[in-house]
Amino acid sequence: MATKKGSDKRKKKLLAKKKMALTKAHQQNLESKTPGLPDYITCNECGGMAPKSTFEILDTKKTEGLDLVITGTCQDCGLATMAMSGDPDVVALYIDAFQEEMGGKGKMGVESIKI
Ligand SMILES: [Zn+2]
Repeated sequence: MATKKGSDKRKKKLLAKKKMALTKAHQQNLESKTPGLPDYITCNECGGMAPKSTFEILDTKKTEGLDLVITGTCQDCGLATMAMSGDPDVVALYIDAFQEEMGGKGKMGVESIKI
């Protein structure tokens, strides 16, 4: 004997479950493609965390010296943050170029990671 309210609640619960399963699948998919990913990257804006479930892997195949570029969304401030892995000199160069393009510090942070 489910009231309307009760079934709405159940629907919401199911949706939440589905969303969680999707996030998990996304995470597993990322892991199979790129083993050794960090669990999160640090937000350069607020110092918060952008968890692995928000990661998007960018294509770096054409960029020599760059192994991996990840973008993630900070769970604290909601801003996008970015991390790069590869040859330290190349990474430093790209971080500089990127921040210049973004109009100096702020807007979107980039950090160097080791994978
Ligand atoms: Zn943040």
